[in-house]
Amino acid sequence: MQTSALAALDRRHLIHPVTSLREHEELGPLILKSGQGAYLTDHQDKQLLDAFSGLWCVNTGYGQESVIRAATEQMQRLPYATGYFHFASEPAILLAKKLVDISPASLQHVYFTLGGSDAVDAAIRYITHYHHSIGKPGKQHFISLQRGYHGSSSVGAGLTALPNFHYHFNLPLPTQHYLPSPYPYRSELQGDEAIIAASVQALRDKVAELGADNVAAFFCEPIQGSGGVVVPPKGWLKAMQLACNELDILFVVDEVITGFGRTGPMFACLDEDVQPDLMTMAKGLTAGYAPMGAVMMSDRVYNGIADGAPMSTVVGHGQTYSAHPVSAAVALEVLRLYEEGGLLDNGRRLEPVFAGGLRALLAHPLVGDARSRGLLGALELVADKQTKARFAPELKLHDRIFQAAYRHGLVFRAFGDNILGFAPALCYTQEDFALMFARLKAILDEVL
Ligand code: PLP
Repeated sequence: MQTSALAALDRRHLIHPVTSLREHEELGPLILKSGQGAYLTDHQDKQLLDAFSGLWCVNTGYGQESVIRAATEQMQRLPYATGYFHFASEPAILLAKKLVDISPASLQHVYFTLGGSDAVDAAIRYITHYHHSIGKPGKQHFISLQRGYHGSSSVGAGLTALPNFHYHFNLPLPTQHYLPSPYPYRSELQGDEAIIAASVQALRDKVAELGADNVAAFFCEPIQGSGGVVVPPKGWLKAMQLACNELDILFVVDEVITGFGRTGPMFACLDEDVQPDLMTMAKGLTAGYAPMGAVMMSDRVYNGIADGAPMSTVVGHGQTYSAHPVSAAVALEVLRLYEEGGLLDNGRRLEPVFAGGLRALLAHPLVGDARSRGLLGALELVADKQTKARFAPELKLHDRIFQAAYRHGLVFRAFGDNILGFAPALCYTQEDFALMFARLKAILDEVL
């Protein structure tokens, strides 16, 4: 179909998530047609270098033949099997075992979901069930971080601390609380240790205020993604886990973005020997080739639920497509590509190229901060490097960047507060990075 006709149909009928509806009618859709490796082709046959892996998910790059084969074969063999009641499929069982093998040792049980939001939602429900099962029904309060993103399910969106996700929804709930984000660039504290100590103290203070018997869990991302790629100091995650253990509240790590090689190791947790009670994941699990997420939990949580309830009592939470066999077959092949296919190694090898390219742009007049871990990074644009003042929203820098990025053929994320987020695929080459940074520099020069 002609691009203009498709665009008209899109504007007339298709609702886009987290997009101003009237603005979209004006700016129109950017219709993508095909992808290969790190490159996308849009409906006008313009080639774009994807520096964001779709929506931080296509970690393998596009067009991976073996993944397509795995999906096709599973569809031919058995396109659907419920995970409800006592049914299962081979790929779902093998994937659960594989995830246990590659994740922190504390995690032994897997519940599959359709994506990240409902992994968070399932985690909240299992946690609540657990506390009731072990005789602590008062533990109903959840703590997360300012700038945190934990998806958009009706309750999970309250753990998300981005105002857009609360507007008109009466969120956060009175049982949802936020601690300051460990944000080195904008912190008044000097040094990593001071930032870590302040976070631990803020958690202790909040738990003391609420009473430990009333606090269910602390949720955090190892690196805050949608909140602007905020990279806490190394050691922060472990310190928060130990504080949660000491305070007797569950420690939940949301690795929806940071999992599957995005920050170097298979999970960011593994870098600091962090042992969470629960962990959520999605995105890189299937590299975007099929929808799937998961929540993993420890023996302690699993057994608390299993033993706490009379026989035949169930956790009343499930989805028709939980543990979908096609998604599970895709995930198994994607995980093989990360490990045996060398993608994790390639990402780690090229991390210095990515980090160095971002840091080199600190010399640019617009760039106040460059930060990254693994292949997850950001540039923070400021109006004044001394004061770190942000650009006035009326300047619409964000829209100008979006348009310039398209003209120069680069896809990345421009957050509202003029933070540019990058998450290149683990299949990037040196040449891809050279092109990415050349285009990025040209974009910044153009909007200056
Ligand atoms: N948690 C985190 C940390 C995320 O970054 C996201 C999505 O970006 C989610 C949860 C929600 O995942 P999904 O969009 O798959 O529902």
